[in-house]
Amino acid sequence: MTMQLLRLGPEGFYALRDDSGKVRYLHSDPFVDPPGSWELGRVVVDAEQVPLLVPVHPGKIVGIGRNYVNHAKELDNPIPEEPLVFLKAQSSVIGPSAPVILPPESARVDFEGEIAVILKQELYRADREQAERAVLGVTAACDVTARDLQRKDATFARAKSFDTFCPLGPSILLNPPLDELRLTTRINGEIRQQGNSRDMIFDIPALISYVSNIMSLLPGDVILTGTPEGVGPLRAGDTIEVQVQDLTPLSNPVEQQS
Ligand code: ZN
Repeated sequence: MTMQLLRLGPEGFYALRDDSGKVRYLHSDPFVDPPGSWELGRVVVDAEQVPLLVPVHPGKIVGIGRNYVNHAKELDNPIPEEPLVFLKAQSSVIGPSAPVILPPESARVDFEGEIAVILKQELYRADREQAERAVLGVTAACDVTARDLQRKDATFARAKSFDTFCPLGPSILLNPPLDELRLTTRINGEIRQQGNSRDMIFDIPALISYVSNIMSLLPGDVILTGTPEGVGPLRAGDTIEVQVQDLTPLSNPVEQQS
């Protein structure tokens, strides 16, 4: 049975959806209580009509560059010998349906569909097994990137962190098969990226372990695990859809800053 964790609008209550589509309120805190002890409440009536919110407000967002061979090649970058780690500002996070705003400072803003890993436990210098056990689940993300500024600047901070540059959600797949996760990005309904976590240069437990050797990871922190080949520019009026496995796609319109 696959279970999904949802955050329901407008209040932000957590709920669990099972395979049958039934949604029940969660009375436990998914970032404190171990899943085996979770207490479920009543069934959510007309759950399909309830808007979904961003599933977590992360304390930090760690990005990984060039983690798929074919994406490194398409941007003429060498295959990294160690994970290439960067940070994205928390203030860049938006939920499903919120617009990605193209800033006037950039003439080239790209989509990067990615698998986002959400952590439930504190980690410091973790090994692979500890890293795997600390995963709450995975969801979809778009690592929106001002490509021209990324090439111009010596660091990624500006290119990755404009407001609205991190759509995230909507539902978290619990107990995900970390080594076999499908990722699909569509722009205006057309498939532009198709990836699978088995094609990562550094797999998900390796990434978590590596990052935890630099900085403590805390419950609710998010790791964006890199994008497969097929990235491309966004234009005002586009709709981005990023889907992990068969979860509800993360869908966001694109607007120019007025
Ligand atoms: Zn990325």
